[in-house]
Amino acid sequence: MYKRILLKLSGEQLSGKYEGGIDPEFAAWVANEVKKVADNGTQVVIMVGGGNMVRGAEIAGHGIKRVTADHMGMLSTMINALALTDIFEEQGVKTRCLSAIFATQVAEPFVHRLANKHLEKGRVVIVGGGSGRPYVTTDTAALILALELDCEAVLKATKVDGVFDKDPALHADAVKFDTLTYQEAVADGAIKVMDKSALAMAMEHSIPTVVFQADVEGAIARAAAGENIGTTVR
Ligand code: UDP
Repeated sequence: MYKRILLKLSGEQLSGKYEGGIDPEFAAWVANEVKKVADNGTQVVIMVGGGNMVRGAEIAGHGIKRVTADHMGMLSTMINALALTDIFEEQGVKTRCLSAIFATQVAEPFVHRLANKHLEKGRVVIVGGGSGRPYVTTDTAALILALELDCEAVLKATKVDGVFDKDPALHADAVKFDTLTYQEAVADGAIKVMDKSALAMAMEHSIPTVVFQADVEGAIARAAAGENIGTTVR
């Protein structure tokens, strides 16, 4: 059983059965899945993406600078974090939303000691705003956060149950890895785990990443308990 984990949820997952925005039913379901983990005594930090609204690299151009596009992306993660925090609390999960960007009217600032204090009190910490800096995604921000808060593992919830040798949505013969090394993931461009900067950080600091299917009941709790589900990259 891990003492503290970082759960990365993408914006796409939060949109659930919808094309964009937030699926409140799915978010409430996730809240109850995370509750199982917290009740088992594992501290949970959540880094939430914003791809259901804005991905900086996709919208930059047509007069919008890349830095501005990334700022918009960070704000979209903040919108998700705020929604998720309320939905978690409504489901009886003690949760705090911390912001990596200045947003004092809407959330507590991300301060290392404050985050630690909330986690030690058993509160789930949801971080909005990514890393607070442009040119990276929430995968990289998740790795920085996991290292900063001494998380023992990164749990990356995805659409499919792990890492495959090629995209399983396009190739029926795609093969799933049970385990994988970061070296293998970096060397093979067809293998998609996280973006390269996130992979490099995880590899350098030897923190495992468990990639698993988001919408499977009990999956987050099993991964947090250290069970081999999906694919473990280390
Ligand atoms: N972003 C950023 N800095 C960060 C994290 C995110 O600039 O530290 C911006 C970036 O534009 C990114 C967007 O926020 O595309 C949304 O995050 P991401 O694409 O990682 O969301 P996901 O695909 O996980 O839903």
